[in-house]
Amino acid sequence: MYDVVVCGGGPAGSALAWWLARDGMRVAIADAGTHPRRKPCGESLNPGAVAAILRLAAGAPPLEGLLEHVQPLDGWVLHSGKASVAARYPRGRSGWSCRREALDEWLLRGAIGAGAEIIAGCRVKAVAQHDDRCEISAVREGINMTMEARYAVGADGLRSVVARSVGLLARPGPLRKVALTARISGLHDLRPLVELHLQRGAVIGIAPLQGEGGAANATLALSAVEAARRASSLRSRPEALLGALRASTAIGERAAEARLESEVLACGPFHYPVRAAHRGRVLLVGDAAGYYDPLTGQGIYRALRGAELAAGLLRQAAAEGGVEVLQRYSAMLQREFGAGTALQRFIEYGAARPRLFQAAIHGLRLSGSASLVAAVVGNCREPRRW
Ligand SMILES: Cc1cc2nc3c(=O)[nH]c(=O)nc-3n(C[C@H](O)[C@H](O)[C@H](O)COP(=O)(O)OP(=O)(O)OC[C@H]3O[C@@H](n4cnc5c(N)ncnc54)[C@H](O)[C@@H]3O)c2cc1C
Repeated sequence: MYDVVVCGGGPAGSALAWWLARDGMRVAIADAGTHPRRKPCGESLNPGAVAAILRLAAGAPPLEGLLEHVQPLDGWVLHSGKASVAARYPRGRSGWSCRREALDEWLLRGAIGAGAEIIAGCRVKAVAQHDDRCEISAVREGINMTMEARYAVGADGLRSVVARSVGLLARPGPLRKVALTARISGLHDLRPLVELHLQRGAVIGIAPLQGEGGAANATLALSAVEAARRASSLRSRPEALLGALRASTAIGERAAEARLESEVLACGPFHYPVRAAHRGRVLLVGDAAGYYDPLTGQGIYRALRGAELAAGLLRQAAAEGGVEVLQRYSAMLQREFGAGTALQRFIEYGAARPRLFQAAIHGLRLSGSASLVAAVVGNCREPRRW
């Protein structure tokens, strides 16, 4: 029997398995896919996520294997109409952009190196809880299988099967966005900043990527209404994404020579709340623990920080042989991420009202408080000690 079966090998699952295996726990990661693989993402990590990676890799030699894929980022620049403001992270802090295949595979390798077992191509179907253990049912290469563990973790992303299986998935939220995302080259005048271009019903995010020739990640997020309005152009994803870049007043000229360097991935909606992030012997981490919107680029931070918190509790629960300590988990997540989620909702409210948003951008410029917002959204504060 495993100590912990982690369902899902994205950043949340791999980071958690890495922490637990390092402490000598018997851990397996059951992942439906195989690495390396693409994941729709803006591919920017905020300073909080970078710090979480450095804590995880402390003393581990393979950090160089990741750094060769990393482009440091100094902050954000927000554009709406003619208004714009740059918001830099506090001195000494920086974010990264990194291709997700490289990041996710590096985290998984770290977990394996620490002693975790990976069961690739293993799709978890359900988790049943008993007094002293969990039974995880899955399908691998068309064959049903069952794993037993003292604790199970749902790290299986949006619309988590584990969350649904243990009755934690709430009704989907009202925010119904869709997104297209791809890597491009040939985008001129890139700076080491994440660009967010807000338009009515649409946001274009640009993150410069490591490499020459104007390499960047371009993500277009559309409200449900705007997606319906652009339905005919969305039939061709490359056309819809490149067309949106070229039609933007702020990006258009810079994108005249832009080319796609990858398939355009589509995804959405994103708003999947959960009733709680814990029940009995099961914890949820990362997107599985509830997700609102990718706009502020905090998803990877939450995945990594949530894994760190879950690891501490699972370690303690295993040592005590019980589950009581796990009851603290949902409150910990609320305490750590509640303010960020409130800010996300506020930004979402403003983003849907361009005039209000432009006034807010002017306000940030005049008051010089843009860096304060960057520090909050960048999760730049030292992590709380629990
Ligand atoms: C368009 C878009 C742009 C984004 N941009 C950013 C950004 O710039 N910065 C940022 O920080 N965040 C961003 N995010 C959010 C970020 O991608 C997620 O928060 C992050 O990937 C969460 O990691 P995770 O490990 O929880 O889930 P995931 O990365 O989704 O990993 C889940 C894993 O679970 C596996 N899995 C799924 N179902 C099962 C199953 N039934 N059984 C077994 N395994 C299963 C999958 O194969 C996968 O490996 C963005 C998201 C979107 C959609």
